[in-house]
Amino acid sequence: IKPAEETCSFTVPNYACQRRTQLHHHNPSLSDALTLLAENAELNEDDGRAVAFRRAAAVLKALPAEVTSVSQLKGLPCLGEHSLRVIKDVLKDGSCSEVETTKHSQRFNALKVLTGIFGVGVKTADRWIRDGIFNLQQLRESQTTLNRAQQAGLDHYEDLNQPVTRADADSITEIVQEAVSSLFPGAQVTLTGGFRRGKMTGHDVDFLLTHPEEGREEGLMDKVVSWLDSQGLLLYQKTSRNSYLESRDGPGRPSSNMDRFERCFAIFKLSRGQTSPPAGHQWRAVRVDLVVTPISQFAFALLGWTGSKLFERELRRWAGHEKAMSLSSHALFDKTQKRYLRASSEEEIFTHLGLSFIPPSQRNA
Ligand code: ATP
Ligand code: MN
Ligand code: MN
Repeated sequence: IKPAEETCSFTVPNYACQRRTQLHHHNPSLSDALTLLAENAELNEDDGRAVAFRRAAAVLKALPAEVTSVSQLKGLPCLGEHSLRVIKDVLKDGSCSEVETTKHSQRFNALKVLTGIFGVGVKTADRWIRDGIFNLQQLRESQTTLNRAQQAGLDHYEDLNQPVTRADADSITEIVQEAVSSLFPGAQVTLTGGFRRGKMTGHDVDFLLTHPEEGREEGLMDKVVSWLDSQGLLLYQKTSRNSYLESRDGPGRPSSNMDRFERCFAIFKLSRGQTSPPAGHQWRAVRVDLVVTPISQFAFALLGWTGSKLFERELRRWAGHEKAMSLSSHALFDKTQKRYLRASSEEEIFTHLGLSFIPPSQRNA
């Protein structure tokens, strides 16, 4: 006779891209604990460990009910010894000492604050910490030279670390939509990222711009950015050219997860009326990502920019390990057939990959 707990254990497929992961789920305290350890591993550039914790957290997010005992987790994928130990502690005591120690450690907090500055990555933050800089005040008082992005990030630190609301995202969508349709009739604006997955807040607003006629998207970014700038809507922008065709690795095989679309990392200035700035302020700063894609790559770009980051990573792992295919935000290459597989919708890409379609709202892995 099996113990009662074992009979009610869960089953979950191996890859996050095979699962439906809602924004709200049954195990937030467990997934939060694992996510914090993942974040800490990322801040210390321990990618292997970070992905392991992210995968474990994603499995818990996909469970159909609250976990009450570790025995229910028997046989589930992606739960290593370390993650199980954390889960056990949280189930038993409501917290895990490793998580609590990390949360209160000086290094973790300094890395969080410093990488919370737009334009500052973990390498830079780590170098500053070694120079004795642990917070914004010490950074401001130091003689540290900042690049243009970092200076903008520091200037607008508070606004940029304030969650962007759905209402903010909607008013930015209206602005971008207006710019695009008046400058480039027929061009299309699509909201991607977390807001497309149904999140109510985000750290930025992500857009994909395209034109239904291949090639007609050329010049779109420059025009849109100049217009936004002339309207006084930009506090900062850095535009990079499309480098897809000139890349040495060739199409479909970019050397990293970074894609090569023409893009603009911007900081918008939203006035009162367009948003609700902090009390006493006339405007607030909001991070916006604009990406231009030719229509032939639109479905891949849409899938690639909708996230979540783990969902994307799992899609690429599935494609490579299970299907001998290579997926990027530009294309899908079948290594067996030695050809690119075309797609004009996300549904077609899932079909090529032999996966059931998962709608954006269920990609919150
Ligand atoms: P948040 O609400 O915090 O913004 P998000 O899911 O929208 O969450 P982003 O960092 O804005 O997170 O990224 C959105 C999507 O775009 C992710 O799926 C990510 O993989 C993709 N992405 C972000 N930056 C790049 C990049 N440089 N190259 C390719 N894809 C990227
Ligand atoms: Mn985003
Ligand atoms: Mn983004």
